[in-house]
Amino acid sequence: MEIPRLLIVLDLDETLIRATGNPTLDPPDFTIDSYRVRRRPMVHEFLCAAATFADLGIWSSASESYVDAIVRKIVPDSISLQFVWARSRCTRQYDSEQMEEYWVKDLKKVRRLGYPLERVLMVDDSPEKVERHFGNYVRVEPFYGDQNDRVLPDLERYLRSFISVPNVRTVEKRGWQHDQNQIESNRVGGGN
Ligand SMILES: [Mg+2]
Repeated sequence: MEIPRLLIVLDLDETLIRATGNPTLDPPDFTIDSYRVRRRPMVHEFLCAAATFADLGIWSSASESYVDAIVRKIVPDSISLQFVWARSRCTRQYDSEQMEEYWVKDLKKVRRLGYPLERVLMVDDSPEKVERHFGNYVRVEPFYGDQNDRVLPDLERYLRSFISVPNVRTVEKRGWQHDQNQIESNRVGGGN
């Protein structure tokens, strides 16, 4: 049976870019309203490469207008995204210990588009955003603007290793950054 194409759902802030009102992030790559924004190094290359082996969607818990503006700046026109979702697609949660609200991304909404969750990977720097779906979660170190950051090329290799894994949720993903063997075993073993 043919395995459905992978869907990779990407977060924006601290995953693909860093935006801040703080002038320490000078020079920014571009500005949006009062935000100075820096692209994570190699983000263009990362997106172009990932689009060759997976469908891509963007899902951020920021506002719609901000998300649209960032996407226009960082996603090349040649890539057609499956969706660009912002806060209105997130679900509000309340943390009673911290007494504050936060947003989660519920993959049920992705499943409703017809994507089997066995073939969906969520890339995010914040684990709480994907707390309902840890099996789909690929954690990345947050990006705060360091020009020497080299996470995205490694991430691209790691995501690529799931091309023929029938159920991505069965694969242990914690610590993948520190264990290049994980990449090799996915590739060879199909995740079993
Ligand atoms: Mg983030």
